[in-house]
Amino acid sequence: MPPLFQLRGLSKTYQMGEVEVRALRDVDLTIEKGEFVAILGASGSGKSTLMHIIGFMDKPTAGSITFEGKDVSALGEQERARLRGEKIGFVFQAFNLLARLTVLENTLLPLMYQRVPQKDATDRAMEVLDAVGLTDRISHYPNQLSGGQRQRVAIARSLINRPRLLLADEPTGNLDSENAAAILDVFKQLHGDGHTIILVTHDPAVASHAHRKIQVQDGTILDGAATR
Ligand code: ADP
Ligand code: MG
Repeated sequence: MPPLFQLRGLSKTYQMGEVEVRALRDVDLTIEKGEFVAILGASGSGKSTLMHIIGFMDKPTAGSITFEGKDVSALGEQERARLRGEKIGFVFQAFNLLARLTVLENTLLPLMYQRVPQKDATDRAMEVLDAVGLTDRISHYPNQLSGGQRQRVAIARSLINRPRLLLADEPTGNLDSENAAAILDVFKQLHGDGHTIILVTHDPAVASHAHRKIQVQDGTILDGAATR
């Protein structure tokens, strides 16, 4: 089986007027299907840039990236959007829930845009809310939930298209330690169910829950680039 991701000599440079920001420099990285990895590094080290490229939100400036054995280095926006929607669930530091929608409605919102019939959408939402342990909160509004519960709704929503890969950028950044631990437990359980988890964090304590740490510094990978 080909690796899930294979990055070779990958670079990303942002042009800011006269100034070039070299956010990633000549990165080699392999991630296998079914892994639980943490991308760890200080603020500004290039973690989010790396996640945006792995998440098909952005393209590298140089180098190559394969996904499931297929070269995806130069795909256009439409193709990348399709991969994002079909293959990946995204979780961010901000929960991005809509205040006027219930837990159930927030969770199934992505399906509304795909014209999935209401009954199917509700069934699928209940399935993913069960996976994050929130079936007893489906009629609550976001402001009636703890931060950890809100992030669990965001995780449920990210699972609604049944992706096998989850990308999480600082998912515990807005949470106290108790709620953060609960969210890490959810990721562990999803990993146990067969999902690949890629977790981006500046916090070594959070990263220690992953099975491999990829240490990023100044746009390069210091350690953890190869699979075991
Ligand atoms: P991290 O997520 O580790 O904090 P980022 O990947 O966000 O780091 O940023 C890496 C570097 O690239 C930083 O110096 C940042 O200022 C710069 N950078 C990130 N995004 C952009 C952008 N859209 N335009 C210009 N520079 C950027
Ligand atoms: Mg970041």
